[in-house]
Amino acid sequence: MRIIVLGLALAFLVSMVACTSTRYSNSDGMTNDKSLGDLLRWGFGREKPKPVQINLSTNYKSYNLASPEPYLIWIGHATFLLNTGDTRVLFDPVFSDRASPFSMVGPKRIIPPAIDISELPNVHLVLISHNHYDHLDQRSLIELKKNNPEAKFLVPQGDKALLTGMGIENVFEFNWWESIAVRSLELTFTPAQHWSSRGLFDRNHSLWGSWFVRDANHSFFHAGDTGYSGDFVEIRERLGDVDYAMIPIGAYDPRWFMSYQHVNPEEAVTIAKDIGADVSFGMHWGTFILTDEPVMEPKQRLERAAYAEGVDFRVPVPGEVNKIN
Ligand code: ZN
Ligand code: ZN
Repeated sequence: MRIIVLGLALAFLVSMVACTSTRYSNSDGMTNDKSLGDLLRWGFGREKPKPVQINLSTNYKSYNLASPEPYLIWIGHATFLLNTGDTRVLFDPVFSDRASPFSMVGPKRIIPPAIDISELPNVHLVLISHNHYDHLDQRSLIELKKNNPEAKFLVPQGDKALLTGMGIENVFEFNWWESIAVRSLELTFTPAQHWSSRGLFDRNHSLWGSWFVRDANHSFFHAGDTGYSGDFVEIRERLGDVDYAMIPIGAYDPRWFMSYQHVNPEEAVTIAKDIGADVSFGMHWGTFILTDEPVMEPKQRLERAAYAEGVDFRVPVPGEVNKIN
């Protein structure tokens, strides 16, 4: 009898938790509907692409990364270091060997981070787009907090507890269109079409999105992880044109599984046009093998599509300093 009562109490508690935890959806009201069955269907007989290494640059070594000259550096995958002059921002910092909760299994890097975490200049802000392991890396965040005790960590709604659980205190949560002013910057969390989860039972319990960053002279946009949607036209309508955009170009095949959550290179070019970007930089490729397209294909297709559309969309070399004018 006691066991039955305890069981009922537990079931009640579990249902309460299930009821009270928010489930987020995309701006079209839909969610990524791919199931575990779909994942298995994709994985069955899947041939992984060859791990070709893309070139890295040590160009950053000849710069004083803490100087007031603005720049943007792709460190690999979705990780960018932005220096606006007086403020340094890290987007989606992932420096670990694997994009995984485990140190022995899960997608392994095919290139090292272009800049080691210990070589970074002092960072004022860490911006997270969503909680997938290739964007939110616990070991990197703990190390960054240790090296930058004053840094503020900006995360999607629902992810704050994850960071405070790591011992990080300066954490701020955001819904779409919420902004914060920090130093000389105004930072706004904006939509993306994607999803979230870190385990089996937390799908869409936290939000995902992109970041729009503005200072007196420039605007920057990091698209996070996203499928193609009307979000980017709306972001431009509400916040204005972007000077420098960081847009994913990889992790798109097979389309039947990936298209709702990841753009292909041609769609990335459309995002650049939608957002009104002066200059765009490709990311989310060449670092981890997550999907089926050949490693070099995103760059080739992107360059073709950008040329055809007359869009200034570059594929940066990791570690190369891209000056901001
Ligand atoms: Zn993701
Ligand atoms: Zn990703």
